[in-house]
Amino acid sequence: MSAPALSPWLQRPLAELLRQRGHAWLLQGPSGLGQYELGLALAAAWLCEQRDAAKEEGACGHCPSCHAISVRTHADLCVLMPEVAMQELGWPLDEKSQADIDDKKRKPSREIRVEAMRDAVGFAQRTSARGRGKAVLVYPAERMNTITANALLKTLEEPVGDVRFVLASEAAWQLLPTIRSRCLGFTLPWPADDEARNWLLEQGVPAGDAPALLRAAGGRPSDALRLAAAGQSPKAWGLLPKAMVRGDVAALADHAPAQAISALQKLCHDLMATGSGAAPRFFEAADLPAVPPKVVLARWSKSLANAAKTAEHPFNAGLMLEALVSEARSTLNSAGRRP
Ligand SMILES: [Zn+2]
Repeated sequence: MSAPALSPWLQRPLAELLRQRGHAWLLQGPSGLGQYELGLALAAAWLCEQRDAAKEEGACGHCPSCHAISVRTHADLCVLMPEVAMQELGWPLDEKSQADIDDKKRKPSREIRVEAMRDAVGFAQRTSARGRGKAVLVYPAERMNTITANALLKTLEEPVGDVRFVLASEAAWQLLPTIRSRCLGFTLPWPADDEARNWLLEQGVPAGDAPALLRAAGGRPSDALRLAAAGQSPKAWGLLPKAMVRGDVAALADHAPAQAISALQKLCHDLMATGSGAAPRFFEAADLPAVPPKVVLARWSKSLANAAKTAEHPFNAGLMLEALVSEARSTLNSAGRRP
């Protein structure tokens, strides 16, 4: 079983990262560009037993080390993620955590747990099992709280021999400055339009849907794929702005609160952009309603940012959705009226 091919726009960055020496990398950039994929590819290349370093290529994909990574059992790779991300990306949890979750003693964590970090610190101090060093992958690195981050910091400050770190982040500004300063920073590049489109087609997204989904995702291919997987219809996306003008709750009914807020934030962004003479990014210009006054949009934007903070644990998702749509409606109907 070989590793899935790395997206084309990540192959150059991988070669660049492999050319340089560094015991801790921070891969940063907006979500959906492939931080996790690149971080894992880098760790796999470090640990690969048959890599041709002269060719600046990544892991071979078929040696025992690569195989161990593909089946998620490599003794020299430690993956630090919130438990929800581990489940989503197919990484096994430790037995105790899995048992606690199975027994409903607690829910899978949305943060990187301090217990997991302690295990990682212990891992960093052990000798490598396969003799090619060890790697720790932290993703999304911004999901460390202060205690967890400080535990990592100590290990970053006094690296023990043969361990290397790759932190992958979609919000690097949320990281402790001391963590950032201990890592070599690398900003992920944006893919070219045709690269992103072709990649989506290879992932099984219908050709007709790819451009609209990419647009809805602001040009970020992994986000576009996630939208496709979540069943976002490209046609419904185009109709969303007008549906909000009408206050049609049904248009967002199949969205979780966080997704609904994200969609409204994109609409708000595009109206602000259009209002200041720039091109919209997420919607076609023709799909947008008349632009409300700046101060009304600013108020909406602030209110959406506040809502986003509680979106993961709303008391009542249905009520929240209704309130969001009602606010969108009154905002969008204030175009041409005095604020
Ligand atoms: Zn290999």
